[in-house]
Parts: sequence; C-alpha cells; structure tokens
Amino acid sequence: MTETCSFTIKTSAHSQMKDITENVKRIIAESGVESGICVVFSAHTTGGITINENADPDVKSDMLCGLDRAVPWSAGYRHMEGNSAAHIKASLMGFSQTIIISRGKPLLGTWQNIYFAEFDGPRTRTVFVKIMEG
Ligand code: ZN
Repeated sequence: MTETCSFTIKTSAHSQMKDITENVKRIIAESGVESGICVVFSAHTTGGITINENADPDVKSDMLCGLDRAVPWSAGYRHMEGNSAAHIKASLMGFSQTIIISRGKPLLGTWQNIYFAEFDGPRTRTVFVKIMEG
C-alpha cells in the first residue's frame, strides 16, 4: 500500500471532460508499483470521474450535450445553491474509478482515457489517487 496521492487541475468551462490520464500515469510511475489496483477519486460534489473515448473529441462534447438534455440546468429544483443539475450529473458519472495497474501503467483500452467530468466550473479541483500493490 502506498501513500494516498493527489493532484489539482483547473477546469476551464462550466461543463468539461478534462483528461487526467497523464496525471494518473505519472503517479503510478512514481509509485514504482508494477501490478495492482488504482483508485481515482473526485473529492467534489459537482465533478466526477469517468473513463471514455480518447480519439474523437466529439464524443466528449456529445456526452456533455446528452447529459444536459437528460438533466436540464433549470427544472424546478429546490437546492438553494442553484446547481442541482451539476450534483445530479456528477453522481451519474460517479466519484471514482477503479483501474487495474499492469506493467506499471493503467490498464486502459486503446480508445480509453480517464476524465474529470466537470459540471459546475471553471474551478480548481483536487483528485485523489490510491494505489494498492498486488
Ligand atoms: Zn450545490
């Protein structure tokens, strides 16, 4: 078991799929762990972690567009902060991903990258990474 690591990112839009694959790769490499499990966790209520397409950028924008259609910004929500849609979308994405570490790298499909899914930006966000060897 290694120490819990973290990194910060700055998102630049209200809704954004921010690629954090390189950040995660760096932490795994620095840990020296060749085989194990890596948990990537968003410590926020309006931004989640997901894995999806890394080739066609239209997939990222289509995902954000689809989530906007499914969860409109204004829909008579009660939460006084006015950002209930961001809370709902973050929960839909989930706040963590568990990734297999193989040969010192995250085991991802050819077309997969890891994303911080921002739904109430732009903001500075903190992502935690826990690596378990095994
Ligand atoms: Zn809120």
